[in-house]
Amino acid sequence: MSRRPILAGNWKLNKGTPDEAATLAAEVVAAVAGTTHADVVLCVPYTVLSTVVATTDDSVVAVGAQDAFWKESGAYTGQVSPGMLKAVGVHYVILGHSETRGRYGVAEPDFTDVVLAHFGESDETVNRKTKAVLAQGLVPIVCIGETLSEREQGITDSVIDTQVRGALVGIDADAVSGLVLAYEPVWAIGTGKTCDAAEADRVCGVVRAAVAAFAGDDAATAVRIQYGGSMKPDNAAELLGMPNIDGGLIGGASLKAGDFAAIVAAAK
Ligand code: PEP
Repeated sequence: MSRRPILAGNWKLNKGTPDEAATLAAEVVAAVAGTTHADVVLCVPYTVLSTVVATTDDSVVAVGAQDAFWKESGAYTGQVSPGMLKAVGVHYVILGHSETRGRYGVAEPDFTDVVLAHFGESDETVNRKTKAVLAQGLVPIVCIGETLSEREQGITDSVIDTQVRGALVGIDADAVSGLVLAYEPVWAIGTGKTCDAAEADRVCGVVRAAVAAFAGDDAATAVRIQYGGSMKPDNAAELLGMPNIDGGLIGGASLKAGDFAAIVAAAK
């Protein structure tokens, strides 16, 4: 079965004012115009979701958020629900990113920032959020990945297995088939270090095996698995050419329309 590639830009805490978001989104729309071989997504700050939805209207670009809460309403100051995201035209939601799990590959310039930014994400909160996002008919992009210390201890595969199963508790095989998993080795995110393509493919195979054990072979064959971690125009083709890698979650390189479009093109 051939899976349709999915390339998602994660703008993180960047381009969050309407003017700068509209400018970059318009550049991306122009740069990827005519793309038919892949799904293209921009995951942008909450403040500019509506701006980017409007800018990408009638284009091949879909819009994603970078998180969502699992409750639809109530006394949850600062939270945003999947239903609210759907109402403004969002189709995808990143969940369980290592930065919301408080797992960093590189020390921030001020380490206090890392500690303060620990949003307390766990496999259980990722699971709750995944169910809530699916309930609104949106597509979760669920991130999993090992830290450098876990890799050095030789426990990468068990960490991945635990995170995948933890995210999927209580989700039926049909729904699992439609979601996106992003394998992001934490030590490769924002560090400029890329996981070797063969090793990235091997771990994406571990992700697929965990899905098979949990939700069956059909779901494992259908589910799309992205690689994320310093993907750039010069390494994208090799990574995206691997059998278990169905796309990319792209941070830094998604902030330049030309680089992001080159990665989209590399998925052909
Ligand atoms: C990410 O934010 O998910 C990511 C992979 O970032 P970068 O491409 O900058 O490593």
